[in-house]
Amino acid sequence: MHILSVIQVNSNYLKLKAGYLFPEIARRVKAFSGTNPHADLIRLGIGDVTEPLPSACRQAMKKAIDEMGTSSGFHGYGPEQGYLWLREAIAENDYKLRGCDISSEEIFISDGSKCDSSNILDIFGSHNRIAVTDPVYPVYVDSNVMAGHTGESGDIGRYQGLSYIPIDASNNFKAQIPDQPVDLIYLCFPNNPTGAVASREDLSAWIAYAHKHQSLILFDAAYESFIQDDAVPHSIYEIDGSRECAIEFRSFSKNAGFTGTRCAFTVIPRALKGQSDDGNKVELWNLWNRRQSTKFNGVSYIVQRGAEAVYSQQGQKEVKQLVSFYMENAAIIRDCLLKTGFDVYGGENAPYVWMEVPDQMTSWDFFDFLLEKANVVGTPGSGFGSAGEGYFRLSAFNNREKVLEAMQRIGDL
Ligand SMILES: *Cc1c(COP(=O)(O)O)cnc(C)c1O
Repeated sequence: MHILSVIQVNSNYLKLKAGYLFPEIARRVKAFSGTNPHADLIRLGIGDVTEPLPSACRQAMKKAIDEMGTSSGFHGYGPEQGYLWLREAIAENDYKLRGCDISSEEIFISDGSKCDSSNILDIFGSHNRIAVTDPVYPVYVDSNVMAGHTGESGDIGRYQGLSYIPIDASNNFKAQIPDQPVDLIYLCFPNNPTGAVASREDLSAWIAYAHKHQSLILFDAAYESFIQDDAVPHSIYEIDGSRECAIEFRSFSKNAGFTGTRCAFTVIPRALKGQSDDGNKVELWNLWNRRQSTKFNGVSYIVQRGAEAVYSQQGQKEVKQLVSFYMENAAIIRDCLLKTGFDVYGGENAPYVWMEVPDQMTSWDFFDFLLEKANVVGTPGSGFGSAGEGYFRLSAFNNREKVLEAMQRIGDL
């Protein structure tokens, strides 16, 4: 009798560069705190919000909890796609009011864009050519590694089989359109980590490319609410032709402080098609709808009521205040760094400031320097990809006092 003695694992996980960035930051901070127990550390490294939830959202969630305590207002499993009233509020406010042709049916509510932007790979085959920017939000890369879409990583940390599009000062932080055809392209604008934005012209060029090569753009707009410049599009669907070539990810995490509350959505236009193994055209909407119906059971009624309140008059007012607050932080950070003589990017339409580190230093050298000399924790650019080497990210997510104090210390260096 043949006995299988051990279960087989997904060996693709072993190709991952073991969650390198944030654990390494934690390790260095811990070592520093160990030898300097009285140092007053200021963290401008994390991509998490710090300000409280808007009261409009809290009131709506409290009311929803009370409804759940009555037999007439109790809600069990909701629709896997999300409640229609939330999808309609999104279609109206985020899309129709911006002139985008997106219906409530094309919106799928979820518990996060991180999950959606990685789960989306469920509906694609395994032989697509995939492009990501460098630096990049690590989720796009790691989810492809886990799915077996890449080879091993090389010495500069890039995975075989992925196309990398550098975004750095040499191309003015614009993602250059590849010369080669690719099938799936991940774009995130306003960008984490660089804070760069994509103009209408930039997005139009990507859409023309996608039409030419029949590729699909996976557009992450998690930071759209931070856009201050009226000329910058908030959604890829503001651009003609996008319904046939783009999926958009949006989240309530950064605009309304839902990082711990969890609510987001993905837009899959009915016009999007892919090809099956037997060469037939297949609607992506059908596949995602099937995927969600099988593997997802919806976001809680309470949280969806909280998200709906973002679109109320009071909710809109509070979200604007939150965004303004973080953008004032970003301006303070930018001004200080510019005065100190650094080359500074981003921070104008995004809550991230991306700076060049001094000559002869690596991103990690500068991390240690800032930690030791100013007791400020940031994020080394190289952690987001090899083209991030020589850069450093400071986040505007913190309270005012801490931001001012951190900038005072950096100015005094
Ligand atoms: C924060 C962030 C998100 C939002 O993720 P959630 O899972 O919705 O909290 C999405 N994309 C990027 C690039 C982010 O930085």
